[in-house]
This record gives sequence, C-alpha cells and structure tokens, in this order.
Amino acid sequence: MAQEAFANEIRPVDTQWEQICGQLKTEFGVTAFDSWLKPLVVGDFNNGEMNICAPTAFMKNWVVTHYADRINKIWEQKDPNVKKVNFIVQATRTDTSLFKKITTSPTPQNIYGCNINSSSFGLVSGASLANDTVKNNALNSAVALNPNYTFENFVVGKTNEFAYAAARKVAEAKNVSFNPLFLYSSVGLGKTHLMQSIIWHIKKNNPERNVIYLTAEQFVYKFVKALRYKDTDAFKKQFRSVDVLMVDDFQFMGNKGTSQDEFLHTCNSLVGEGKQVIISADRSPTDLEGIEERLKSRLVGGLVVDIMPTDFDLRVGILQKKAELLGIELPQKVTEFLAQKITSNVRELEGSLKRIAAHSQLLSGKEITLDMTQDVLKDMLRSIDRKTTIDEIQKKVAEHFNISVKELQSSRRARTVARPRQVAMYLAKQLTSRSLPEIGRKFDRDHTTVMHAVRKVEELIIEDPTLAENIEILRRTLEN
Ligand code: ADP
Ligand code: MG
Repeated sequence: MAQEAFANEIRPVDTQWEQICGQLKTEFGVTAFDSWLKPLVVGDFNNGEMNICAPTAFMKNWVVTHYADRINKIWEQKDPNVKKVNFIVQATRTDTSLFKKITTSPTPQNIYGCNINSSSFGLVSGASLANDTVKNNALNSAVALNPNYTFENFVVGKTNEFAYAAARKVAEAKNVSFNPLFLYSSVGLGKTHLMQSIIWHIKKNNPERNVIYLTAEQFVYKFVKALRYKDTDAFKKQFRSVDVLMVDDFQFMGNKGTSQDEFLHTCNSLVGEGKQVIISADRSPTDLEGIEERLKSRLVGGLVVDIMPTDFDLRVGILQKKAELLGIELPQKVTEFLAQKITSNVRELEGSLKRIAAHSQLLSGKEITLDMTQDVLKDMLRSIDRKTTIDEIQKKVAEHFNISVKELQSSRRARTVARPRQVAMYLAKQLTSRSLPEIGRKFDRDHTTVMHAVRKVEELIIEDPTLAENIEILRRTLEN
C-alpha cells in the first residue's frame, strides 16, 4: 500500500515538501496555511508524478483552485524530477475524531468548587462535554454545544480570517495579550460557531482548563437568582475561579444595573489574574445600548474583532463544506447559483442547502440539479429578488427629491437635502433588515442620527400629509 510505503521511510520528496510548506506559509500567511495546506500529506511518487493527499474532497478542490499552480511551480523549480503534482482525496475526518475523543475519554474532575449544578445553566464543565450537550438539550435555559461547530468545520475567507485567527489564538494559548476578546457581527455569520470551536479545542488539548460558556441572558438570570437566594458569594466564587469565561449574545445583557456591575467586576478580576474572557455580540461595544460606559470601556480595552458579511468565494467554500457534512453531492452550477443568490447570512445559506438535501432524500436520493433547486427554493428566491437594498433606496429617494446620491450622503444640513436624507434613513429601516449602525454607515453617520431620523419622520408623517404621500409613493416603487 502506498500509504504504508510513505509512513515508513523518509524520501527526498518528503523533505522537499516540508521546505515548500515553509515557503507557502510565508507567501499565503499562517491562517490560510493552517486551514488549507497544513492538512495535506505527500503520497505516492511514481514516474515523475507526485500525489498530494487532502483529507476531504472539499479541501482538495479548494487547494486545486487556489494553490495548485503555485505548488506545482515551486516543486518544478526545486526538483526537476517532479514533473506533475496531482491532488487526491485520502479521507480521515478530523472533525468526527475530535468529537469521539471528547465523548469517549471524559476527564473526571468538575471545574466548580461550589455546589451549583453547572449543566442546568448551560455551563460547560471539565467533566464531559458530551453529557453536557445531552443535558443541555433537555433544558430550555441552557446552551447546547454543537459537535459540528469546530475550527475544522469553519471555512475561512477574507471577511472572517481575522476573527478566526483571534479565536484560534485564544484557544491555543494560555496567556494571550488581548483580553477580553470581543467578537461581533450581524446574525448568522459564525460567532457562536467560533465560540464553540474554542471550547472544543480547549477540551481536546487542555482539558484541565476550566471553561464557562453561557449567554448574557443566562448570566443575568443566574445572577438575579443568586441575589434572590442570597447566594452571591457562591456565584462570585464560581465565576471568578474559571480559566476561561465565554459570554455569547452580549447584547442581551440588559439594562440591569447590578448584573452589569457584577459582570464588570468578574471581568476585571479575571483579566487581572490573566484568565481569558471572550464575548460575542451583534454589534460593537460602543454601539451596545443600555450598557454602562465603564463596562464599555473595559470591553474595548481588549481586542475587538468583527466578522464582515460573506463574499462570494467564502459562500462557495461554506456550501461545499456543509454539503460534505450533510453527505450530499452539490453540482458546481448549483453551488454558484446559491452563493450568488443567498447573500444575507450563512444561516440562510445553510437553511437553503438543508431544504435541498431533505428534498433529495425524500425522493430517494434524487439528483440535485439547478432546476430542482430553483423549484424547491421558489418562495425564498422570490422574496430575495424582491428585497430592497439601501443603495436602491438612496437612489430612488435622491431621484424623487431631485438631488444627487452624493448630496444625500453628504454632511450638508440644508433642509432640501437633510429632509430627503431622513426619509431615506426611515425607508432603509422600514424596508430592509439592516441595523441602525449599518444604515448609519451607508450615510456616513452614526446610529443615533439614524434613530433620530426615524423618529422625526414618524412624527412628520402624522403632521405633514404631503410628505406622507411622497413616502408612500416611494415605498410602493421600492417594493415592486
Ligand atoms: P451567529 O452566532 O453569528 O449568529 P452562528 O455561529 O450561529 O452565527 O452561524 C450560523 C450558521 O452558519 C451555523 O450553522 C454555522 O456553522 C454557519 N457558519 C457561519 N460562518 C461559517 C463559516 N465561516 N464556516 C462554516 N460555517 C459557518
Ligand atoms: Mg450566535
């Protein structure tokens, strides 16, 4: 067997590959290298043809489209005996083996030195992640860990590579210079996936590290409960004795003064002792509403990283990865069609894929084609085609009021420009699912200006029938 052959002896091509890897790492950067090139293994070398094995079909395809030319070229220069490099699939699935490892070898110790039942609050203990997942699933208040949310299953692209690198760094290193790490993005772009990847990684490599992972809502709930039962000492002890505290969906921390104070103290205490705090939210610390300034400035004191909306290449990569996890064969045409059409977020992209997969399975493995895809996703696609963008709104509003889009986005305060600008902001809020900060950015303003504009227009609609009529006309043209 070829595999045995290359497992037993070190050939010149193996050493060459090692050197080539060093060069690829410098050329493409550590993140890309770790994600795509590091998992490759040198296989057979016969008659000048070299086989490079990738663990999955998806990875092989990615390497072929992105790196093959370069690898061929470097090898050609290095060793003229290597005439051709082939990329093949030789499967060993790291993601499933990771999960197995965790489920089959639970470490017995519990992380908490106190008597609070961890699993009922979605806390992750050093005991057994798999058990926690099961228990958590049975309880509404808890966070269930998804075995698929691993670094291996996270597809890296331009828009998320920084967030991915930061998450990996905190997962790998015990002492990281950025603390807290604050991850933010709009919904469905992979925050929770990255948070849970950190946990899986720690549990695999440093199972002795104590991790608490919960949502901000659960933190508040738990703290309020501790207050009610006069059990705050135990609460403090529990939260301040961890190595890693992870809070997901921080925007739900709420306006509750005492919980925020408690979180700030916990955070200060952990950071002071060099323990890692990781937070995710749907907006940046400065844009969080109802959060005290002191806490905000603590949050921006570490590293704040955002995940931007996906680009086409990343969507293609994600679709391929998810298709592979679902065990379905997705033709290139369908992949590109979906990546082109479903741009809002990864959750929707995945949803569309699941619908297609379910449909194909229900019809006993019916082949997935472009026609079938368009048919299955009819409703979804229709609503996407109808979706209005902020750019369109700006264009139509500018036309309607006879000004230019540039003026609409400018800082001019003259009524003739300021009023249409407010109308455009109002319509953007009404007709798109964009957040206030996102709308603000399109107008080079902050979210408070947008909020003010929306309120103002709501008032004007009641007071000024002509303006109300104009807005109605605009709305109708934009919705068609
Ligand atoms: P968020 O927490 O930001 O709302 P999630 O982490 O829940 O988003 O992601 C939504 C879905 O999209 C999940 O199923 C996740 O696995 C998937 N997803 C998001 N980004 C990626 C990515 N880069 N690679 C693979 N899957 C992704
Ligand atoms: Mg989430």
